[in-house]
Amino acid sequence: MHIIEGTVILKLPEASSEVLLIKNLYLSCDPYMRILMTQGASSYIPGSASHSMPLTGYGVGRVLESGHPDYKKGDLVWGITKWEEYSLVSSDQTLFKIEHTDVPLSYYTGILGMPGMTAYVGFFELCSPKKGEKVFVSAASGAVGQLVGQFAKLAGCYVVGSAGSKEKVDLLKNKLGFDEAFNYKEESDLNAALKRYFPEGIDIYFENVGGKTLDAVLLNMRSHGRIPVCGMISQYNLSQPEGVTNLANLIYKEIKMQGFIVSQFYPLYPKFLEFILPHIREGKIAYVEDIVEGLEGGPAALVSLFSGQNLGKKIVAIAPE
Ligand code: NDP
Repeated sequence: MHIIEGTVILKLPEASSEVLLIKNLYLSCDPYMRILMTQGASSYIPGSASHSMPLTGYGVGRVLESGHPDYKKGDLVWGITKWEEYSLVSSDQTLFKIEHTDVPLSYYTGILGMPGMTAYVGFFELCSPKKGEKVFVSAASGAVGQLVGQFAKLAGCYVVGSAGSKEKVDLLKNKLGFDEAFNYKEESDLNAALKRYFPEGIDIYFENVGGKTLDAVLLNMRSHGRIPVCGMISQYNLSQPEGVTNLANLIYKEIKMQGFIVSQFYPLYPKFLEFILPHIREGKIAYVEDIVEGLEGGPAALVSLFSGQNLGKKIVAIAPE
């Protein structure tokens, strides 16, 4: 297939019945991509071996060519693609056709895509929250955390978020409806901070960061608390993971701590869409995005997740429609 861009004519590989040719519109910056880059890392995702290949990640694209009967030219899709302008994507890997376009297309990298499903599964499916329960969320202003907090409010819970700047704390309290929020970087004693916000303890801790935060949380959990282990971003850049010393609280308080991988729950995506779309359309859920223009801004955007410079879901717009 030939495409004319400016004065350049691109010759693109042909699509086949298993492989679609797509034009990437938005690329998603996700913390797990750091794990992919760690050579030989023992993780749930195989290491990305070659430095000469484009990064693999989630994105939104438009189908330019397809031999597959389920997809046709012009369809919009989200799923696993590559960090490049055009990609050949396999129809048998994670790929969803986008049916609802009355919402921003970029939302399919976030609230309507993988991070949205992560918040939904981790909070509702794994925790079965009850009205009045006390919920704590770390990395609370990010792609996943901002939704967990809003889901907790919808479920009638009290929710507190931690984040790494005053701007993020203000966002949580003033725009996203958290009951309380604090800047963990300003707390010399996290245990004392949690006791301040949760004098009666925490029922649900949505774990996004690990390390010292998890250790302090374990001291403040209530009996029969639940900890969905979504991520541990504080550990992804360490060659030696930090030790967690308070794990015995899992026994004393009969806490359920459960790791999960969102892709295992993708069969629930239609149910999730039924739940989330009306909330978006009725303005009952907000979603904060942090969009960088241009593929060349991608590497810095991805790295910014690890210094907390993103404000909300970090996205690279390469050909927004
Ligand atoms: P975010 O949009 O929240 O971005 C990452 C945030 O993490 C940063 O903004 C920063 O916020 C915080 N952070 C970075 N480094 C540290 C650190 N050393 N200590 C504490 N906080 C830090 O990312 P996502 O919402 O996309 O992801 C949140 C978590 O969920 C990650 O751990 C990710 O790996 C995990 N995840 C897991 C999935 C699964 O299937 N299990 C699927 C999707 C995500 P701040 O400024 O507040 O510190």
